[in-house]
Amino acid sequence: MTDPAASRPSGAARLFSVAGIDVYGHWTWLLVAVIVVQIRADAYSSIVWNVVEYLSIFVIVLLHEFGHAFATRSVGGTANKIMLWPLGGVAYVRPPARPGALLWSIFAGPLVNLLLVPVLLGAAIGFAAIAPDASPDLQHAVAAILVINVLLLVFNLLPIYPLDGGQILHALLWFVIGRERGLTVAAGLGLVASVTGGLAAVILLQDFWIGAIAAYAAWRSFVGLAVAKNRSKLLAAPRYPDRSCPHCGELAPQGLKVLCPRRHVFDPVEFEGRCPQCDSVVDEVICMFCTERSPVIRAAPEPQPESNPES
Ligand SMILES: [Zn+2]
Ligand SMILES: [Zn+2]
Ligand SMILES: [Zn+2]
Repeated sequence: MTDPAASRPSGAARLFSVAGIDVYGHWTWLLVAVIVVQIRADAYSSIVWNVVEYLSIFVIVLLHEFGHAFATRSVGGTANKIMLWPLGGVAYVRPPARPGALLWSIFAGPLVNLLLVPVLLGAAIGFAAIAPDASPDLQHAVAAILVINVLLLVFNLLPIYPLDGGQILHALLWFVIGRERGLTVAAGLGLVASVTGGLAAVILLQDFWIGAIAAYAAWRSFVGLAVAKNRSKLLAAPRYPDRSCPHCGELAPQGLKVLCPRRHVFDPVEFEGRCPQCDSVVDEVICMFCTERSPVIRAAPEPQPESNPES
């Protein structure tokens, strides 16, 4: 799974870092790990194998997220953080604002699971052939990891936003009907599917685990719809004639909203990055056109509001 937001994770500790990508683990992950290992304790002759099984799933989820991160970087986007929490992993990626770039950065995650299928299948067949009665635990673990990898692959490809399949749907729709309308359709379908599926899971199956995942998906879909609506509004808004993004040159739209550190909403361009309510400073904004991060664009120091300082 991916998330474009990049705020500092709370309740998470940095585990390690690979190629400048920080991997964070949320404390609840440890809690759920202990519970899951306990629940499946009788699947093996020793609990060590449960730990092996769970750590292998951890590695598979991590490889999936690294797939997203490296693919995003390969098309010129930003990816510096991966978070692991009980519902799986999230790669915080910001691919460039092109449908092909989004498609590749999302598809690369499930592609890792797809490539792992022959590897794990080979391992399962290999162990069974070389030493058929050596360790039933080992063979059981490899088979379980193979099945979980396939389940992760299928689950992630469900076309339900914000699952990878839903974001792939957004990228494909973007080619045809544009970024904002594509996101509206994908997130709208995601909201309907996750609310329906979540209610069915909780009421009919009493499955609160699926209910929690569905609630998260519904919330992310709702945010996706709000983002699409807000971006459409900004695209139609008048622009500041003298302030442009240093990366793509687009003039800054009027009515952009950001949160100051004390959570006041304000237009960072209009107030030159200084919150009008508490005076705290927001010094960077993410351009809605090219998704690059840049300092808040200030007007020319002396009163020449009509001239463009770059030209
Ligand atoms: Zn993913
Ligand atoms: Zn830009
Ligand atoms: Zn403020």
